[in-house]
This record gives sequence, C-alpha cells and structure tokens, in this order.
Amino acid sequence: MEDAKTGKKNKRKCSFCGRSENEVGFLITGMNGYICDSCSTQAYEITREALGEPGRDGKASTKLNMEDLPKPQEIKQFLDQYVIGQNDAKRFLSVSVYNHYKRLLQHKTKDDVEIEKSNIIMVGSTGTGKTLLARTIAKLLKVPFTIVDATVLTEAGYVGEDIESLLTRLLQVADYNVAEAERGIVFIDEIDKIARKGDNPSITRDVSGEGVQQGLLKLLEGSIINVPPQGGRKHPDQKMIQVDTKNILFICGGAFDGIEKKIAQRLNTHVVGYSATRSKAQIDKDNMLQYIAPQDLKSFGLIPEIIGRLPILTYLEPLDRDALRAILTEPKNSIIKQYIKLFEMDGVKLTFQDGVYDYIVDKAVEYKLGARGLRSIVETIMMDIMFDLPSQDCNAYEVTLDYAKKQLEKANLERLQTA
Ligand code: ADP
Repeated sequence: MEDAKTGKKNKRKCSFCGRSENEVGFLITGMNGYICDSCSTQAYEITREALGEPGRDGKASTKLNMEDLPKPQEIKQFLDQYVIGQNDAKRFLSVSVYNHYKRLLQHKTKDDVEIEKSNIIMVGSTGTGKTLLARTIAKLLKVPFTIVDATVLTEAGYVGEDIESLLTRLLQVADYNVAEAERGIVFIDEIDKIARKGDNPSITRDVSGEGVQQGLLKLLEGSIINVPPQGGRKHPDQKMIQVDTKNILFICGGAFDGIEKKIAQRLNTHVVGYSATRSKAQIDKDNMLQYIAPQDLKSFGLIPEIIGRLPILTYLEPLDRDALRAILTEPKNSIIKQYIKLFEMDGVKLTFQDGVYDYIVDKAVEYKLGARGLRSIVETIMMDIMFDLPSQDCNAYEVTLDYAKKQLEKANLERLQTA
C-alpha cells in the first residue's frame, strides 16, 4: 500500500477531513494539527460568506445588519437634501430599498416565510427627477447599484444590446463578484421606450417592443441568466457568467409621454369601483399622473406580465414654478451652489442680485425648459464672466438682473428647447 511506502509522512493528516498528506495537494502545519489545501479553501469560502463576501480584489463588502440599515424615514431625509418635492416617489423608494435589505437579511436566516421582492416603476415627465432620485439613493446604498438605459436594448439578433447586458454593468460595479451582484439594485431608465407601439400585439416584428419585454421579464421574474462579462452582443466564444436575478431589485423609470390621455380616458369611462368615488370635478387635471394605475401602463403598451412584476407603481409630479425656484438654490449641490464653488476656487465671491433667480425661473417656465433648462440658462448667463474673470484681479462679483437679462437676450433661448 501507498501508506506503507511513504511511512512516517503519512501520519500527517488533515485535522478537518482526515485525509493523509499523499491524498491531498499539500498540508499546512498548525500548532496542534494540519489543514489541507481543499479544507483551507473551503474555510476561506465559509469565512467570506460569514463576513459578507468580499470582492475579488479582497475589498470587504459592507456587511448588512439590521441595526446599521438606514430606515425608510432616514432614506427619505437623505433624498430630501438633494431632490425637491416628489414626496410620494421618495416614500415608495425608501420603503422598497429598506425592504430589499430586509429580504437579503432574512435570506440568511432561512426560515419559512419568504419575502418576495417588489420591483418598482416610476412614471414621470422627463426632467422631473427620476434619474436624480436613483443616483441619490445610490450614494446611500450598501449594495451594488447601476443605472442602465432601456433604449439600447433590442431583441436578440438585431442591432443593439442583449437584455442580459443590463446585468453586465451590475457585475462590473460589483468587481465581478457574482454573489454581490446578485443582491444589487438595477435602475432601468426609459422603460417606456420598450413599450409595444399599439395596444394590440403587432403582426410585424417589433424589434424594440414586445420581444425585449419578454426578455426583460425573465430578469424581473428571477432566473439564472448567462451574462456576457463585457456587455454588448453575445459572442459564441465569450465565456458567460451566470447570475441569479432572484434577489436583484429592479427600479424602472419612464416618461410615458401621452399616458395622461389614457388615464383621463379610464377615469372618465370607469364608473365602477375606486374611480367612481372621485367626482370629475375633483380631478386635478394638471397632475394626472397621480391617478396612474397598472391598466394605464398596459394601455401604453407594457405587457401584463411585466406590469405584474413591477408591483410598486409610483409617479413624479410636474415641477411648478416654486419647485423650479427651489431646485435652483436649495439642494445640497444646487446649480447656484455649484457656481459659487467654481468661483470660490478662483478666489471670487459670487453673489446674485435680488430678482435674478426669479428671472431665471421665469425664463425656464416661459420656454418650457424644465429643471434641465435651469442649468443651461445659468450657463448662458455666466459664460462670458467665466471666460473673463479668472484673468482679472477681482475677489467679488455680483450678477445683476440687468446683466442676466442682457446675456439671455443675446442668446437664443429657443435653441435650448430641444436640448
Ligand atoms: P428624469 O430622469 O426624470 O428625466 P433627471 O433626474 O435626469 O430627470 O433630472 C434632470 C436634472 O434636473 C437633474 O440633474 C437635476 O439637476 C434637475 N432636477 C429635476 N428634478 C429635480 C428635483 N425634483 N429636485 C432637484 N433637482 C431636480
């Protein structure tokens, strides 16, 4: 027997699995025993799991525990510092993210009650803060997070990206640590762009519509997906990484242009149930999105299966004048604060004369530029000063109302409308 041949050497055994030295790769010697290569690898895996699975680069990931988790109210307070208004969306998001954490924690305890995940869909006009909400929440999160754009997705076989590539980004932010990615959050922007073009399934191929929705459904439902590590199209020779989407939280956002009409139609025609209790006079026509219901998404062209997988439906309010005014100056990194900072770096104290902010907001409203337009307007006003001031000996500058008007009159604001 081999054992006899190797004699004394074989007395050294792994204290964990009991195999002798010649049955294993190598043994590591300890004070009172030994550990073999495979047991030490296993021990490493167990430790990794217990500590919350560090990434490939050895960086320990954040260990989730109930005490450290931000509570929904705290999440909302954090969002309040950066995002103006949108209370409903903030509340829904805060609760969903909190519940997502709880699901991940209970997963470890493995009892019988399984909390199902609740993916979210946010509907709101462009420039009302959907992406900003997602980005802000990312700052606070303790799990991998990524924002992806649904417009690049097409059905397999067409120009564009495979649905699976949505997960590539998540893998990348998780340093290709699959376990980490599998508990992450994906924000899918412009989800409305993959809606079916009509209410009826089309006979012709709908490259960016239903086929993509079917693909997306697989992700939302929770399945094992083969993900191309570098994204883009799948190549036959590319090595795939398997990712289980069961615990990944999906947050979708879209403008759903024109959905107000579908909501209005439903509110007018439905005489039974909830809507019947709301008299037509009570309907706030300027903010129809607040009445949004899953069937409106269906009328818009999302397939019912997708809608079913996005059980939390919330909306963003249109930004009125007051909201725009607040956006200009109040958020922690508001546009005005950013400019003051820029000038500060040149040693210049920047101030604005009374009335300049209101003037900027007036122009944004007049040209229907929304919150995005605020930045372009401020940029237009400030461009010449930003060009000249750094070369001048100056330590304070006030933007007067006259100057702001002069700069904007010089520029063609209509040009910004399509921007
Ligand atoms: P959406 O994703 O809804 O199209 P964004 O979140 O990208 O819109 O908003 C565009 C920009 O407008 C943001 O970067 C931010 O500067 C500003 N903005 C929009 N809505 C808000 C808001 N509610 N609070 C603060 N800033 C906002």
